[in-house]
Amino acid sequence: MNSKKYILVTGGAGYIGSHTCKALAQAGYIPVVYDNLVYGHEWAVKWGPFEKGDITERMRLDEVIAKYNPIAVMHFAAYAYVGESVENPGKYYRNNVYGSLVLLEAMRDHGVQKIIFSSTCATYGVPKEIPIAENHAQKPINPYGTSKLMIEQILKDFDTAHHIQSVSLRYFNAAGADVEGEIGEVHDPETHLIPLVLDVASGKRSHVTIFGDDYETKDGTCIRDYIHVTDLADAHVRALQYLENINQSTVFNLGNGNGFSVKEVVATVEKVTGAEVPLEIGAKRAGDPACLIGDARKIQTELQWKPKFSNLETIIQTAWNWHQNNHKKN
Ligand code: UDP
Repeated sequence: MNSKKYILVTGGAGYIGSHTCKALAQAGYIPVVYDNLVYGHEWAVKWGPFEKGDITERMRLDEVIAKYNPIAVMHFAAYAYVGESVENPGKYYRNNVYGSLVLLEAMRDHGVQKIIFSSTCATYGVPKEIPIAENHAQKPINPYGTSKLMIEQILKDFDTAHHIQSVSLRYFNAAGADVEGEIGEVHDPETHLIPLVLDVASGKRSHVTIFGDDYETKDGTCIRDYIHVTDLADAHVRALQYLENINQSTVFNLGNGNGFSVKEVVATVEKVTGAEVPLEIGAKRAGDPACLIGDARKIQTELQWKPKFSNLETIIQTAWNWHQNNHKKN
């Protein structure tokens, strides 16, 4: 028997995956990063072994699972661009849905019985109630959200049939960077609001385009619930500890319960950086609901999760520190 607690982390070289690897290592686990490096970065793998591979490659997964005998899987590997998913749904269903199936069948065949899954608030679609609780209807309005909802369903079926227990974590908008500056957000292409606004603040881009200013919100721009990536990472460790103790699948939202408009994010970046951020108003982006705010009381009550960096200024400050110190990577 293996006394070391290896955790297979698919997508562990990505933004949320790498921050979670740090949290896992701090909690005494060994994260084994399994990543195809399409969007991940080898420099972000710092807390355990790296195994290059794709979740759709069954033989490679077999090899890595047999090598480490992980006690659980954390499954971050996915494509996650909402706009792209509308234009190229096949890419999302093949990688996200089919890839997850390959992973789950490999887990089943090797007796790995626990998985923490990166789900999303995009599974809810246009909310009927704000804040959104876990029991809100799930009617995604883009293929990215649909692909994640399909995986949630597959997880339920794999629990019934094969007793693989899962925790699906439905993230709202992940933001910020490691407070110690070891890792941070680097996407290529970058489409996320906060890093794009920081690019403007640092002079790398000329302006930010706001995707629509005639939404039915307080200032006409979209409202999102931004959650610090380190708080997300901490929730993953708690979800793992939950599955180690309780053999029951569940779902949790992960948000701060506060909504900020695109214009408020820009204003906060201006405050934190002292730079002026020129704005242009552009067309709405396909697949964007006006307002997404999460109700995360369930994970607060059941797993005693409490966000440490819920203040938007703090979130943006950590992202700005990373942005300034990592020009090479940005
Ligand atoms: N957004 C924007 N301009 C940009 C990028 C994003 O106005 O250049 C808006 C987007 O419409 C959404 C919010 O900012 O309402 C957050 O978008 P992001 O892509 O960061 O995250 P998402 O909500 O898509 O997960």
